[in-house]
Amino acid sequence: MKPWQWILVAMIAALVTGSIINATCVVETEPELVLNRTGEILVSIFDYIGTIFMNLLKMVIVPLVFTSIVVGIAGLGKSSGFARLGIKTIGYYALTSLIAILIGLTMVNVFKPGLKDGQPNEAIQQQIEGNADKYKGAVEGKLAGQEGGMSAVRDLFIRMIPQNVFESFGANNKMLSLIFVSILTGVGLIFISSSGRGSVLGFFEGLNELTLLITNWVMILAPIGIFGLVAETTAQTGIPIVLLLGKYFLVVVAALLTHLFVVMPLILKFLAGVSPRKHFYAMRNALLTAFSTSSSSATLPVTMNALMKNAGASERVTSFVLPLGATVNMDGTALYECVAVMFVAQVLGFEMALTTQFTVVMLALLTSIGVAGVPSASLVAITIIVYNVGIPNAEAVIGLILAVDRPLDMTRTAVNVFSDSCGAIVVAKSEGEDVLSGEPAEA
Ligand code: ASP
Repeated sequence: MKPWQWILVAMIAALVTGSIINATCVVETEPELVLNRTGEILVSIFDYIGTIFMNLLKMVIVPLVFTSIVVGIAGLGKSSGFARLGIKTIGYYALTSLIAILIGLTMVNVFKPGLKDGQPNEAIQQQIEGNADKYKGAVEGKLAGQEGGMSAVRDLFIRMIPQNVFESFGANNKMLSLIFVSILTGVGLIFISSSGRGSVLGFFEGLNELTLLITNWVMILAPIGIFGLVAETTAQTGIPIVLLLGKYFLVVVAALLTHLFVVMPLILKFLAGVSPRKHFYAMRNALLTAFSTSSSSATLPVTMNALMKNAGASERVTSFVLPLGATVNMDGTALYECVAVMFVAQVLGFEMALTTQFTVVMLALLTSIGVAGVPSASLVAITIIVYNVGIPNAEAVIGLILAVDRPLDMTRTAVNVFSDSCGAIVVAKSEGEDVLSGEPAEA
């Protein structure tokens, strides 16, 4: 079997195992899911395996992002390529995120998952009233752990510039500042002419190759790691809550899948002139990893590898578009933010005028830039939006949807990652590169 087939088998095995644990070991489901002793032990084993795999992936992010951007940009030379690449990339990010948000907005307005028979859904309201404190507590707990918290958007540029260069290398949630330092270093290298330039560049090139090689080694363990991650999530997902929020769940998934399987292929076909089927196949490892880890950042090494090896994109474009995209371009997240906020309003019977909906669209677009590529990160953005449009008592509803967040996070992360990769293809094609030609590579 090929590596991606192993991953798929591991995922299915994890879904089955997790469901069995969920069916046999759950003691209580509301508002939080409580497992019996056996369930807890099994979940902690899955967690252990999953965390080791996530750490291995995260371990390569910093050297990979830094060296790829530096080598990529330094390789551009003094041509005007850098600005051109930048404009195309940002244009793609903005366009696709906006389309994604509009899909979400349309679906949530058509299907109205927060209403029942035209009225705010009473069953959901009762669930919230009965457990309001616990749900609010869940939101506060999650927000406390988020770097940047509520000021995440306002501080975007401040976070981008580190006080000390080594800070950017110190933590995975400092991606924006790492990108800033890398771009500066890459551009700087173009302008120094001493013999030192060659040795510095040579060193980074070697380091870049080394990180990609280590990523390949890490991916050997992917089936085991992914089994741990997915089994843990499945075992811990409260089925009654998923059923209560069934319509919301379906609307989010349908909107995300529309973006993934309709909009993205259209963009690939008409904007890049490549076969969408080939691109899905080339990105299969990245899609599966994104889905299992719920983290665009942790998936980045796999996405870069797949894009260069399987799709044949150049290092120059890959190293520019993907690291930036993993933090800045989040179509799935932007779409989700919009649906979540509208759902909260519907449940609470809060009237959303057209102008307010427009504000939601703009805020979803802006906040999705600042959202980190880690699990549940969009919660911060959703909270920012509900505060800004003035929906009262929204925390409890957000706490409720948090209970079903993980499977939705998995899906939107896959959309985020796929959109980044499509962006790279569109840019590569427009730069005259020969991508996705011939038969797909086996990797
Ligand atoms: N988990 C998402 C990502 O890493 C972010 C989010 O929507 O929470 O892409």
